[in-house]
Amino acid sequence: MTASATLLAGDDRAALAARFDERVRFDTPLAPATWWKIGGPADATIAATSVDDVAFVLQWCFKRKLPCFVLGAGSNLLVGDGGMRGLVVQLGGSYDALDVRIEDGAVVARAGASAMLPQLVAQAASLGALGVDGLAGIPATVGGALRMNAGTDREIGEFVRDVRVQTATKPQPASTWVGFSYRQTTLPRDAIVADVTLAFECGDPAAVRARTQDRLVRRKATQPVAVPNAGSCFRNPPGDQAGRLIEAAGAKGWRAGGAEVSTLHANFIVNVGGAKALDVSSLLARVHRAVDDAFGIDLHLEVHLVGEFVADV
Ligand SMILES: Cc1cc2nc3c(=O)[nH]c(=O)nc-3n(C[C@H](O)[C@H](O)[C@H](O)COP(=O)(O)OP(=O)(O)OC[C@H]3O[C@@H](n4cnc5c(N)ncnc54)[C@H](O)[C@@H]3O)c2cc1C
Repeated sequence: MTASATLLAGDDRAALAARFDERVRFDTPLAPATWWKIGGPADATIAATSVDDVAFVLQWCFKRKLPCFVLGAGSNLLVGDGGMRGLVVQLGGSYDALDVRIEDGAVVARAGASAMLPQLVAQAASLGALGVDGLAGIPATVGGALRMNAGTDREIGEFVRDVRVQTATKPQPASTWVGFSYRQTTLPRDAIVADVTLAFECGDPAAVRARTQDRLVRRKATQPVAVPNAGSCFRNPPGDQAGRLIEAAGAKGWRAGGAEVSTLHANFIVNVGGAKALDVSSLLARVHRAVDDAFGIDLHLEVHLVGEFVADV
């Protein structure tokens, strides 16, 4: 099986080049933009730096019936080796804005979708934001964290005061209600998060900073942070931990091509060198089967699989 042909005709490419100049790249591999360092080329990758850029892309894709995918830090993504058809949008510029301050007795963080969560956490912790340590060490953009309801014992959704999104039909940022559950939100598929306001109760800055630091140290000891990975591959089933089940099923150290079930944390798959998306996806399937066979538990993926999974690339 081979990757399907580009969806962009010559005049599409010309229109995008005219609008975005050097901020659009064609047929460029996505691997460098993902934490796993895996993934084939996108038809077009656009660096969108303003609200108008995103509005243009959303409406253009809608009119042309082309898929549009927004990429954050790429820390929860397995992109197929055949790449992605349509447009991939990377936010930056005005979406990088981050403002964290004390307001009416709360720590309030206003962040554009491409602001980095670790920076928000560090600034909020230094003002004593209670609970922000639960978001420490997650290598996400604010938009990606919001989409995933990222967190640990505390999740980003708990602190949300406002979320503004852009869609093809409402291309300017508009507040929207979002429901949050474990690693999921009710955000519509086609909504691009523009910015987020979070609010935290005020606590003792020294204590919050210390707890944040503790979490970072603990992560370094328990997660394979030095090798390309995408965090936890499977969500924890109710009342148990996916990592514990995978380890008990004997999967630690299993390999497929350049992909390995981490020997440090069984719910992580690491790219030990040259792993293809198919290596990782076949390992995910094997691990899923092993846990089902051993314990009758149907693990659900946490990582998002996107793009074309083909062998012949
Ligand atoms: C070492 C490591 C540790 C991790 N630890 C944790 C953890 O403790 N807890 C946890 O929850 N996760 C963890 N993760 C997973 C990952 O960091 C989170 O899922 C994170 O929220 C992904 O954010 P991102 O910006 O990288 O999004 P991406 O991986 O780029 O994208 C993820 C999804 O979000 C969508 N998205 C991105 N930006 C936007 C936007 N602006 N608007 C709408 N949709 C958007 C994408 O389209 C995609 O569907 C870890 C990952 C790594 C590599």
